[in-house]
Amino acid sequence: MSHELILTGGRVIDPSQSLDAVTEVGFAKGKVSGIGTNLKRDPQTKIQDVKGFIVTPGLIDLHTHVYWGGTSLGVDPDFYARKSSVTTSVDTGSAGPGNFPGFAKHVIAPSRQRIYAYLHISHAGIYGFSRDVHVGESEDMRLMDPRGAVKVAAEYPDEIIGIKVRVGRHASGDQGIAPLDVALDAANEAGIPLMAHIDEPPPTYEDVLAKLRPGDVLTHAFRPFPNAPATAQGTIKPAVLAARKRGVLFDIGHGMGSFAFKTARAMLANGFEPDTISSDVHALCIDGPAHDLVTTLSKFLCLGMDLNAIIRSATETPARAIRRHDLGTLKVGAAGDASLIRIDDGDFDYVDVTGEHLAGKKRISAHGMVIRGEWWAIGLSQMQTDAGRKAYELAVAHGWNAHSYAAKMAAQALAAGEAEEHAFWEIVEANLKPRVISN
Ligand SMILES: [Zn+2]
Repeated sequence: MSHELILTGGRVIDPSQSLDAVTEVGFAKGKVSGIGTNLKRDPQTKIQDVKGFIVTPGLIDLHTHVYWGGTSLGVDPDFYARKSSVTTSVDTGSAGPGNFPGFAKHVIAPSRQRIYAYLHISHAGIYGFSRDVHVGESEDMRLMDPRGAVKVAAEYPDEIIGIKVRVGRHASGDQGIAPLDVALDAANEAGIPLMAHIDEPPPTYEDVLAKLRPGDVLTHAFRPFPNAPATAQGTIKPAVLAARKRGVLFDIGHGMGSFAFKTARAMLANGFEPDTISSDVHALCIDGPAHDLVTTLSKFLCLGMDLNAIIRSATETPARAIRRHDLGTLKVGAAGDASLIRIDDGDFDYVDVTGEHLAGKKRISAHGMVIRGEWWAIGLSQMQTDAGRKAYELAVAHGWNAHSYAAKMAAQALAAGEAEEHAFWEIVEANLKPRVISN
């Protein structure tokens, strides 16, 4: 087998193969073509030196909102891929049967990042979610569209991997748990999994869990009181343990209101790790508190979760949740996706949705990707000019999130010889303009 691309010198962590070693990964024809030391080189093989970095199977963020432009909460998927080395975003309910074709044609198809979707049971998905307008799409039962959902799921089998529903005081209001029953009916009819969102009661955490089937996902699983999975005494609610035993998956879905350090500490102290760690990135949390997948993973690293388990929760397990067994692994023949990350030492300030701060000594940072066998560079590894590096570090030190990304892009342009140094801040500005989502 000849390899078109070889990543060499990196520490490869692939929990699907119980692998954690410095070795090489080869790619050809859009797939993983080899793994091991001293892969055979051809004259045309592209060698990417990734010494000092960690290579993982392509990171999968199981809870995102990437219907940019079609919903006010959407973020641009390729922007998001570069921000967090996420090769696959799973959009959870941004679109419903009424507006999914636009998502498929205008966002999923042209994006470089892979995108899969849980289709919302509500006709127009999450349509009323911004700083100024908040309408729970599950509040109005007239919008429930089980027939449309089953039809559209059948029309888009390559994109739609499940059904999404949001229930809770904010999302379903007076309708309580009723939308979940409708969604479950549709998921059964379509033969696909369900992801359920919970917020404040009603319904209770236990009420929602009782409805979920093996393989279904409960998102916002480590949310703060009220409706947390842990009791005030720090024990795990019995219904949570029973649901895990049954095969229900517990997903983080950080977002702006759904992850608390206090809950996570209680759960981890009881040996209950999340099945999947996801960001719930959307327009109102991409500049904090969630930021992105690598920041959410970093929080778990600082809470003491094992690095290999963290990587499993963003590769192998979410791949299983969406039933895409060619993703989330670097086995030969799997999809040619990999992510390049690094563990940075230093002093890092993390915050949860309750405003609690955590002083961390570690950070997982994003540095590049391979998608469909093609190398996609981002970040510091490409920053070879002093001016770019200094400006980027300055932006990070000041906590200018959008600016730090823009500075990174500018530094790359300088490093690639596409721009002169004096143009640095002009490039930063240019990168900021179309990208500013909130601030
Ligand atoms: Zn969400």
